[in-house]
Amino acid sequence: MSKKGWGIYAHIPYCVKKCAYCDFVSSAVGTSASVEMEDYAAALRAEILREALPLRARWGDVTTVYLGGGTPTALPAALLTQILATIREAAGEPLECTVEANPGTVDEEYLAQLRVAGANRLSLGVQSFDDRLLCAIGRIHTAEEARAAVRAARAAGFDNISLDLMYALPTQTLADLRRSVNEALALAPEHISVYGLIVEEGTPFAAAEAAGRLALPDEDAAEEMYDYLMAELPAHGYRRYEISNFARAGYESRHNLGYWQNVPYLGVGAAAHGYIDGVRWGNETDARRYIRAIHAGENVRTPEDAERTATNAMEEYAFLALRTAEGIDEADFCRTFGVNIDDVYSSVIEQQIGHKLLCRAQGHIALTAAGMKLGNEVFAAFLQEK
Ligand code: SF4
Repeated sequence: MSKKGWGIYAHIPYCVKKCAYCDFVSSAVGTSASVEMEDYAAALRAEILREALPLRARWGDVTTVYLGGGTPTALPAALLTQILATIREAAGEPLECTVEANPGTVDEEYLAQLRVAGANRLSLGVQSFDDRLLCAIGRIHTAEEARAAVRAARAAGFDNISLDLMYALPTQTLADLRRSVNEALALAPEHISVYGLIVEEGTPFAAAEAAGRLALPDEDAAEEMYDYLMAELPAHGYRRYEISNFARAGYESRHNLGYWQNVPYLGVGAAAHGYIDGVRWGNETDARRYIRAIHAGENVRTPEDAERTATNAMEEYAFLALRTAEGIDEADFCRTFGVNIDDVYSSVIEQQIGHKLLCRAQGHIALTAAGMKLGNEVFAAFLQEK
């Protein structure tokens, strides 16, 4: 048994339509089911059976499952529930099974089928409760559809719901953000994730920015929004347990914590990433090529870090763990690498504590509130330390 358990991430590379800011691997398929979706689900199930059975034999039942995308709920419920059934058949009963969903793609009946199939956590991509902004960023749904999705999820029996919210959206003001946050809080989700908009290369937003047509909030306004979120969510009982994630006690995303705590996970599906036995890989990103390769019994994985050294592994461990409120568990670092963290990073730790960006207590080294804001600076310092 892997001492920390293990996870499965399954990627569904379809969305009803592409959002203007998105560079995730997903293609727009509209609202109707397609033959490719059926072929994709069959290939995904074949990969799950092929890859998860040996891991279960080695480590026991899977601890966490996460169906992400894309928009998993762009698939018909019958296909998604078949995928969940195959995961349970191959990997056993997970403690936590999250499905990502977008408002506008689910109703109570759809969600009830997911619950019956074993999903016990729903992550809803709400982003904003402002119809003007939702339209501006290319979302397919309205604020009312987001509220309706939460009501439908509760009625279907989900008692663990996460909402994604975005800030620093084009033309968004602090007052706009406050209204959205108040609406989100009124729905009493167990978990909230917040992301500042990043203009990614190759997206419609990148083209609009290059043409001077994207009215993003300036740095000060974006920082004001960030400061507001970091104060407001904890004031309503949501603990910030990771840089972008807030939860009521006991509702932290166990699966996502695994990414930051060096827990192994199997990635299945086109463009999925996995991490097992210290090796990271990415799956074939093109859905059609992925389907063909799986049916032909071919390898779909490309190792990501063939040249990875022990130093790289320690750096990665450090900057992933530092994303969490608990930070680096010094005893776990020592167990994992066979060296004391001070033997490797004493000067960077002292330096960052001096800058008040890190703190050290009870066997853990963690970012301070200021450090969370300047996370990339601290991570870079760990990368430069030799
Ligand atoms: S729904 Fe999510 S994955 Fe799909 S296009 Fe929008 S942001 Fe990207």
